[in-house]
Amino acid sequence: MHFRLSIMVWRVLIGAFPVREKLVFIPDKSCLLCNAKVESSFHLFWECPLEKALRFSGPFLVVPHDLSDLDLINIVLKLHEGLSQDESWKLFTFIGCLFTSIWETRNSLLFRNIKPDILQLRKMIMLRYQMFVSIRATVDNQAVSGTTIFHGREVIPSSANVFCVTDASWIGGVASLVVGKSDRNTAFREWFTKKCKVDSTMEAEILAILWTLKIYCDAGLPSIIIASDALLVVHALQSKHYPPCWKARPFVAEI
Ligand SMILES: [Zn+2]
Repeated sequence: MHFRLSIMVWRVLIGAFPVREKLVFIPDKSCLLCNAKVESSFHLFWECPLEKALRFSGPFLVVPHDLSDLDLINIVLKLHEGLSQDESWKLFTFIGCLFTSIWETRNSLLFRNIKPDILQLRKMIMLRYQMFVSIRATVDNQAVSGTTIFHGREVIPSSANVFCVTDASWIGGVASLVVGKSDRNTAFREWFTKKCKVDSTMEAEILAILWTLKIYCDAGLPSIIIASDALLVVHALQSKHYPPCWKARPFVAEI
């Protein structure tokens, strides 16, 4: 699965999104999309009628098992059972696209008062899904032909054999870190996650980068590429300045 979607699914599974159930300062906990009593992660990404309608109208039979009484992590594990690698890639790419669209739709309604149009949404999810399918085909072709792979506007130097993505979420003093690693020669992918105590999201993002460096530099790799969506941190590191978070200074110095 594309790293962007893997991280989206991971964030949903660990409950990293600020749904209303978690926001103590918001008295109205109802789901914006269906007015259900509580907007929890489980409701928004699995139980909400809008999400269900989009899931059931998709190209995959997403509920082949008895999933009652399971949490989202175990539902995903159950869905994975019995699928070939290719089937699993397609199913989870679709689920990643679905989760992304649900979160965007919820935020468009909340912040811009844009009401969801289910037909448009379904079209957008399938377009997004097709885009990831075509990216996969392009990367496979380039891997065979040995040409340089383009990721967005950046060109990854061919000398870097290991490409990593990092992400972090932070809730109530505890951060969840994730590192995804792709070996460009073998196409082998690994994921690492851990929890640690820090005081802010920025510290968590910096720790994720530092952890990536420790994992792979300690393994003796000559060079790696690390991608992070924490732009403030990335810009600070690129310009060799400290990001605006004094508590993170020892971590940045270590990087
Ligand atoms: Zn709902």
